[in-house]
Amino acid sequence: MYVIMLGAPGTGKGTIGEDICKEFGFEHIATGDIFRDEINHQTELGKEAERYLKEGSLVPDDLTIKIIESKLEKTQNGVLDGFPRTINQAEKLKEFLNNNNNNILAVIELNVPDEDLIKRTSSRVVCSNKNCRTSYNTMFLKPKVEGICDICGSELVRRHDDEPDTIKERLKIYHNTTEKLIEYYEKEKLLIPIKIDIYDPETREKTKAKAIEGVRERIK
Ligand code: ADP
Ligand code: ZN
Repeated sequence: MYVIMLGAPGTGKGTIGEDICKEFGFEHIATGDIFRDEINHQTELGKEAERYLKEGSLVPDDLTIKIIESKLEKTQNGVLDGFPRTINQAEKLKEFLNNNNNNILAVIELNVPDEDLIKRTSSRVVCSNKNCRTSYNTMFLKPKVEGICDICGSELVRRHDDEPDTIKERLKIYHNTTEKLIEYYEKEKLLIPIKIDIYDPETREKTKAKAIEGVRERIK
């Protein structure tokens, strides 16, 4: 079973995806993290993907599907964070899961207005420890000690693609391409939309509760 996290950059797909994983014992599969890993190791795939991540555009479907399928082959239950991002990727995923006797349980759509996202993304920091990578936000989800990861004590850093121009480019792509998946999964009766108010101090807990509740209802 797979849960898909859908939402623009900075909506908290990673954070809420991790919550779902902890609750249900699912594995977190984040395409952005996978690409960044490959780039750090300068693998063939990493070298090919690098320029797309730098400019904030989508990595071509062929490359993306190849890498995700090799992960899915090793997992039975997972949360997909950042995949699919195009209708073509969604079709390929459906085909792959059908052939492997697996299915999509739910699609959690996190919905945040663009101007709030720009604010939130530009204050995002992430743990520099490759095995941890917990996200924080200097405005909304502060670490206990400034600049230090609560979980592993490593230094918190800003992601290269969280620069304002790159964020705007990624938002544009989201609206032009990825957002079409909302309708696609609505038709498949898989969509669980969640509206997020980033100024509500309890937004993190409320969103987590809604997401977990939505998944639980479908597991039954
Ligand atoms: P965010 O969700 O905050 O935009 P991610 O870490 O999910 O960030 O993705 C970072 C980058 O990785 C994207 O801007 C894109 O270049 C690439 N990427 C991630 N997932 C996909 C995908 N499914 N298809 C194509 N490119 C992807
Ligand atoms: Zn950490």
